[in-house]
Amino acid sequence: MIQQEILDRFHVPPGKKVRLKDYETGWELTGKLAELGRGVVRQRAQVVLEENLKELADAQELLYADDRYSILIVLQAMDAAGKDGTIKHVMSGVNPQGCQVFSFKKPSAEDIDHNFLWRYMRCLPERGRIGIFNRSYYEDVLVVKVHPEILDSQRLPVKKYGKKFWEHRYEDINAFEHHLVRNGTVILKFFLNVSHDEQRRRFLERLERPEKNWKFSSADLAERGYWDQYMDAYEDALSATSTKWAPWHVIPADQKWATRAIVADIITSAIRSLDLKYPEVTDEHRRLMEEARRKLTETQEG
Ligand code: ATP
Ligand code: MG
Repeated sequence: MIQQEILDRFHVPPGKKVRLKDYETGWELTGKLAELGRGVVRQRAQVVLEENLKELADAQELLYADDRYSILIVLQAMDAAGKDGTIKHVMSGVNPQGCQVFSFKKPSAEDIDHNFLWRYMRCLPERGRIGIFNRSYYEDVLVVKVHPEILDSQRLPVKKYGKKFWEHRYEDINAFEHHLVRNGTVILKFFLNVSHDEQRRRFLERLERPEKNWKFSSADLAERGYWDQYMDAYEDALSATSTKWAPWHVIPADQKWATRAIVADIITSAIRSLDLKYPEVTDEHRRLMEEARRKLTETQEG
């Protein structure tokens, strides 16, 4: 387990005005960690990840049996920050039946014919399941805020996309999340905070390594040109929507091993803190089991 004081560094306190510059993109080795050295810290992160994967697999079974809560994991990030790899590694031990991943791209014509939360509502995890949103309704206050012209084709009865418009969207998101939490969904939101320079390095890797070529998209490069606008949009969104019921975590994303260990740790400790239990066996159920046992032993062959 990662110490609470370290995890606290990644948590966005409700009501706080976020400045992303205050959050590390790399896992800075300060204090006790610096004494250990990078090699040891990396090894320990691997152990933390492995321990959490085992625990997460067990926790997911219990979540399913308990059948009262669902977990919604929201992943947001700039391109190449490692959303896909995080999902792959963190969920690698979980029973695929208990886990649903949805990746959100540009909305369809049918999506646009509804309110902006509609398409996400249809993908919410069922009770007992873990749902992962690879991008989410936050895109509607991120990419759409950076490119407000996207709204021109959405036929909203709004004249101006000014400050009020975005405030209303944050309010709607907070209310939507509050509604979900009150109905048994635990919401964990992660912003994978990659640096501008590390993104450049990863884009170059996509160009240089043949097995990564397919991941390169010139659209990603175009979006990189809007980096500062994205950072502003993220700061506004994180400040307005980190709530008591659905807090944001800003995770250093320059070292993939650190990102995965931290995300896994936060998810497992959130599930661990729920009062999950296996359903009690009722007297009637016990009687039926006894009857079944009798029938099966009576018909024993040989
Ligand atoms: P990968 O590149 O790893 O496959 P990705 O999430 O970047 O994953 P892409 O198909 O490259 O997937 O990009 C999806 C695009 O859809 C992103 O540019 C994103 O900003 C855009 N998008 C997602 N949601 C919305 C939305 N609500 N409105 C407009 N654009 C959106
Ligand atoms: Mg992409």
